[in-house]
Amino acid sequence: MKAEIIAVGSELLLGQIANTNAKFISRQLSELGIDVYYHTVVGDNAARLKEAIRVAENRADCIIFSGGLGPTKDDLTKETIAAHLGVELTLDKKALEFIEEYFTKHGREMTENNRKQALVLEGSHVLVNDNGMAPGMLLERGSYTYILLPGPPKELEPMFQHEAKPYLAKKLGKGSKIISHVLRFYGIGEAELEVRLQDLLDEQTNPTLAPLAADGEVTLRITAKADTEEAAWTMINEKKEEVLAIVGEYCYGVDDDSLPSKLVDMLVKNNLTIAAAESLTAGLFQATLAEIPGVGTALAGGVVTYTEQAKIEQLGISVEIIKEHSVVSSECAAAMAFNVREKFGTEIGVGLTGAAGPDAHGSEPAGTVWIGISIGQEPPLTYLLQLSGSRNTNRLRTVKFTCSYLMR
Ligand code: ATP
Ligand code: MG
Repeated sequence: MKAEIIAVGSELLLGQIANTNAKFISRQLSELGIDVYYHTVVGDNAARLKEAIRVAENRADCIIFSGGLGPTKDDLTKETIAAHLGVELTLDKKALEFIEEYFTKHGREMTENNRKQALVLEGSHVLVNDNGMAPGMLLERGSYTYILLPGPPKELEPMFQHEAKPYLAKKLGKGSKIISHVLRFYGIGEAELEVRLQDLLDEQTNPTLAPLAADGEVTLRITAKADTEEAAWTMINEKKEEVLAIVGEYCYGVDDDSLPSKLVDMLVKNNLTIAAAESLTAGLFQATLAEIPGVGTALAGGVVTYTEQAKIEQLGISVEIIKEHSVVSSECAAAMAFNVREKFGTEIGVGLTGAAGPDAHGSEPAGTVWIGISIGQEPPLTYLLQLSGSRNTNRLRTVKFTCSYLMR
């Protein structure tokens, strides 16, 4: 099955909103193993929409529309499709009842044009809208499947997931199961990952492998198609083993895992407590851990020591270290980690210091960051980062790298 998504709405063309519906639908279709070849965007104009439908019919057999199902004059998606296909619009009793109920419930007067929302393409399956009034539609005509979805994402997303997706999955064949599993990597770039996995990437058919880079992380999606879910998982697990044999040291998690959530898991499971002294991140590391439910038993607290003065007075960093090595140094990060651990009486102490940018710190170029990790009475470990992002990106990356080093 080849799909095309047609997003209808002049506000998309005017740059007032981004076409997140197409992104959402594409992801969903890729999970089903349906290829999306084109995203089209067209304004609220019947002639141009008709033209877009004609073009889509020449290159796709599943055409999915987003938007233009509302009550106003500029909402013309179903009218245009009806005219194009020579199909009548008929009043759907259930949809009308639903709309009437909606108005009664909200104590509002129903206007005549709201009845228009209960009109559906004759012969279509009506898709229930749990979060609004306009029903969606799914129509089979010849070799084509047309799916009409409302524009607001909070209406479109559940409607697609609960109504359209199961329908498409069934249509694709009962026996065929498609399962995706995402491996998450940190500390390795997309290009290097691809080079190291070159052979596996070249030979891939089923399962398929798709690397993707975002926010300093790389993910690898493994998708397998098989007759049963169990068989698909067996294929995924075999492929996963091959991948991990090559780049396993960089893999920190799977699917919805995040670096902070994995770190918190690890700390809680091992009954470990942590404290942090933060300079360039100014509390971001602790704030990030605090986002994870259940961190309360692991995160003791910490200090933000931004200036030299604060490092000396609040954390007891010696003047000699700062004079001899500067605050952006392995020595300073180590002392921060050690002292904050002592101060809070935790098993682990973290010290973060660096030049976030855009300016250098003395002789240390922007993006130079030292991460100190102190565990028990052992000499602290330190790691050097040489980051090249903007100020905030560098601060965020520092937090992510810290999480990943703590899990090693
Ligand atoms: P309504 O009944 O709310 O009018 P509709 O089905 O007629 O819904 P539109 O009028 O086209 O849909 O769009 C309604 C709103 O939905 C837009 O103002 C916008 O906020 C959002 N929206 C529409 N299309 C998209 C899209 N492609 N991506 C993200 N959001 C969208
Ligand atoms: Mg509308």
